[in-house]
Amino acid sequence: MLDARLRADEPVDLQIHTVYSDGQWLPDELFTHLAARGFRAVAITDHDTLEHVESLCALGARHGVHVVPGTELTTEWRGHPAHLLCYAGQLAGDALAAVAGDTARRQQENTLAVHDELVRRGFTFPRRETVLADQGGALLRPADNARLLLAHGQAGDMGAALALIRDAGYRQALAPLDRAKIFRFDPPLIEEMLADVPLDGIEVYYPIHSGEQTAAYAALARRRNLLVGAGSDSHGPQQRLPVAYPARSVAALLARCGVQVR
Ligand SMILES: [Zn+2]
Repeated sequence: MLDARLRADEPVDLQIHTVYSDGQWLPDELFTHLAARGFRAVAITDHDTLEHVESLCALGARHGVHVVPGTELTTEWRGHPAHLLCYAGQLAGDALAAVAGDTARRQQENTLAVHDELVRRGFTFPRRETVLADQGGALLRPADNARLLLAHGQAGDMGAALALIRDAGYRQALAPLDRAKIFRFDPPLIEEMLADVPLDGIEVYYPIHSGEQTAAYAALARRRNLLVGAGSDSHGPQQRLPVAYPARSVAALLARCGVQVR
């Protein structure tokens, strides 16, 4: 077992995605990258799955990087796409895995229904096996229908592809596909949400937050006694890379997950 004690200035990143959901990071390549840059603790928050937590923890341990078990659940609140980061010290029961599994299953059912509807409307996807080769040609997530439309020249860009899949029955929260239109929960809206949803914390540090936004989220966390999170949302080596947030910035969250920051 890796010594789960960090110095205050050691780098951590609590939101990273791999090929186990919609990222391009291969786990080995990711941990080689993280270890070379001195990261000491990370959370691999693949969407709606906890299936690979054990192997990722073991892989991290081999590279000297502590892995906090986690996932990012696709959900919505009052019709707004809401992505909920979930972390644990260790996964004891299977309640969270059941929620994640159920979300993934509903998402796949909807993805297949949307695909059938697109085909019914006359779209054809002769290159499906090639386009979705990384998942054996299978349709798993809503993005897959958009990828097919784009690759077959049936939509000019991601916005047009999203409009087509929505029209064909896509109903679930889907922010990451359409990053330009990411829905922002600003502090007043989070205050409203807290009346409904007992969130433990918020991701204060995030690469696209301006200094002003970061300060506003930090103030909200202090005011409402919320845990502070920090994550790059890195999806692959060719995109935004992991960010070295100092462990002290997320010390309370790490402590909740069994990692002590000195
Ligand atoms: Zn993602």
